[in-house]
Amino acid sequence: MNAPETATRVEGLRDEGAYAVGDAARALEASGRRVVHLEIGQPKFSTPENVALVGTRAIVEGETRYAPPAGAKALRDAVSAYVARTRGVAYDADHEIVIGPGAKPGLFLPALAVIDAGDEVVFPDPGFPTYSAMVSVANGVPVPVPLTADGSSFDMAALEKAVNHRTKMIVINSPNNPTGGVMPRTDVERVAELAKKFNCWVLSDEIYSRLIYDEDCDEHIFSIAALDGMKERTILVDGFSKTYCMTGWRLGWMCCPKKLAERIRLLTVHSVGCVAAFTQAAGVEALTGPQDSVRAMRDEYRARRDYLVAALNDIPGMRCPEPKGAFYVFPEFSYPVTAKELADYLLNEAGVALLPGTDFGATGERHLRLSYVGSMEDLREAVAAMRIALERRFPDAFASAQ
Ligand code: PMP
Repeated sequence: MNAPETATRVEGLRDEGAYAVGDAARALEASGRRVVHLEIGQPKFSTPENVALVGTRAIVEGETRYAPPAGAKALRDAVSAYVARTRGVAYDADHEIVIGPGAKPGLFLPALAVIDAGDEVVFPDPGFPTYSAMVSVANGVPVPVPLTADGSSFDMAALEKAVNHRTKMIVINSPNNPTGGVMPRTDVERVAELAKKFNCWVLSDEIYSRLIYDEDCDEHIFSIAALDGMKERTILVDGFSKTYCMTGWRLGWMCCPKKLAERIRLLTVHSVGCVAAFTQAAGVEALTGPQDSVRAMRDEYRARRDYLVAALNDIPGMRCPEPKGAFYVFPEFSYPVTAKELADYLLNEAGVALLPGTDFGATGERHLRLSYVGSMEDLREAVAAMRIALERRFPDAFASAQ
């Protein structure tokens, strides 16, 4: 007999491309091929030593039992102080902050908590795949809104058309995955106006907020939550994975109004329970300890971005805008193939693992996403191999560029 059917709400779920391409790349490596990994948004730097030591010491000292579902008080206090210091927005550590295993639950659980069947949710296209996944699981109606050609912001005319009285939530993600784009302040202000006009939530995914390159902002982060009348309708999400190279620790947070925070706390109680106490101890150290490693990492990423953007623009048939944040570039190509075909070709022929733009939404066609978390040597090797493989396959594009 066949197994019983699964629910329709999970039928449309798709994988995150980075995992699928990573598996294909590792299969190639197992057969002896060299592959340069530019597919996943995972820092290659180690977790700062002071943070790792506090976490491991906490295990040895017995912080291995259940923690409060909303998060350890010390970490909620640290998050409250950090968000006040970086964004100038005051959140009550006892009622307006929930800690989760990564930033992802800070996206998924609020979606479950605010979206009713048929509610529309506006999000960036291309955008992080979890946005469309969480909306469909919550039985909402996904409304992907295209970005500008440089990937920095919504196409504002399209956004104006997309938001209406059926919109329950607008998702913004600045700096953006996959484009690295940083939204201009005036566009963020316009999103706030629309959210107030149509009385909807704004989910602000700020996971890359400490990785902005062109301003000397360091700890000064511009958040939509800081705008007039926005704290009461904003769900501010951030985490430790990118800023403190802690992807595997699973730690993030979410700040929002009290009533919603309580609903999310209850969803946490009944889903993941809590985050490991020793992980949270490490998180306190990350937020309150020295921040030099974040600055050093950002300087390093900036140099890699500068190299990669210039090197890709030098390849005939590639056009790469310069992103102002995160650690991704999202070049557009003019070769007569789909993004998926090109990504497969570059993995198999050049040994470069990267993602087709379509993994992030329909408008990602004719784009690739490269993550520049690897070393400068890796980037040089990848670009050289891509150039050779592309010239072999698309000689016309190269000939016309002579
Ligand atoms: N938001 C965005 C835009 C991301 O790129 C990621 C990680 N790739 C996350 C959220 C989730 O991060 P985590 O759950 O590791 O904190």
